[in-house]
Amino acid sequence: MTDYTAPADLLKDKIILVTGAGDGIGRVAAKTYAAHGATVILLGRTTAKLEAVYDEIEAAGGAKPAILPVDLSGVRWEELEYLAQGVDQEFGRLDGLLHNASLLGQRTPIANYHYATWQQVMQVNVNAAFGLTKAMLPLLEASDSGSVIFTGSGVGLKGRAYWGAYSVSKFATEGLMQVLADEVEGVSNIRVNSINPGATRTNMRAAAYPAEDPKTVATPEDIMPTYLYLMGADSVGVSGKQFNAQG
Ligand code: NDP
Repeated sequence: MTDYTAPADLLKDKIILVTGAGDGIGRVAAKTYAAHGATVILLGRTTAKLEAVYDEIEAAGGAKPAILPVDLSGVRWEELEYLAQGVDQEFGRLDGLLHNASLLGQRTPIANYHYATWQQVMQVNVNAAFGLTKAMLPLLEASDSGSVIFTGSGVGLKGRAYWGAYSVSKFATEGLMQVLADEVEGVSNIRVNSINPGATRTNMRAAAYPAEDPKTVATPEDIMPTYLYLMGADSVGVSGKQFNAQG
């Protein structure tokens, strides 16, 4: 979907929650969705970054966003239920959910991987995404056509040495996407897909490849066509699929 061109009003009146919305790909996705008419719910762990995105969206004339300061590494089920109640009271439904927040963890052999870091990466990248999905499912059901997008990775499709919990978490993410897509098919208006962004110029990429010249990789803006396609009406009926945002 690299050649997809979204109409300016693709997401008019849509309510879309983006996790990890304060930085990197999530920040640009939130701004892009707002620029196409959506009211975005900005979820992340650093309130100042979310506020900066909020200000940028308002300055660009977008619909007033909402901010949900949440650290997914410690989030309990009760908190997720509470978040869903808040979204229900404010909006009554959810049209889109982009699971974007992730931790990279360590780049080291399994033999050296810290047990606690492993658990933290799996918590943020997999367990929290499951919990947030479960909490938001009734609100997605209340939408005419809810779209759930998970974020995968090349190392979540083929294992690679020293990528540890991150790689394993991305395999699990694809699994979660496929299981949910299969469950909702034919019984719900929800579609469920995943995006592999490919090498993208962010802090996470720089941490994983410190010797790389950032200018040689795509920007988050470059990969937005796939993020728009899967969130908007042009992808209704598409579910259970994995998309490579860079073709
Ligand atoms: P960044 O590290 O630049 O941004 C990740 C975002 O997630 C940040 O806003 C961060 O918050 C947030 N986040 C991290 N941990 C938590 C937490 N515990 N609770 C809430 N929010 C949290 O990463 P990218 O933008 O590069 O990555 C976005 C997605 O794309 C990830 O799922 C990543 O795995 C995937 N991806 C990225 C690739 C790339 O080349 N960039 C390639 C393949 C996949 P804060 O700003 O406060 O740290």
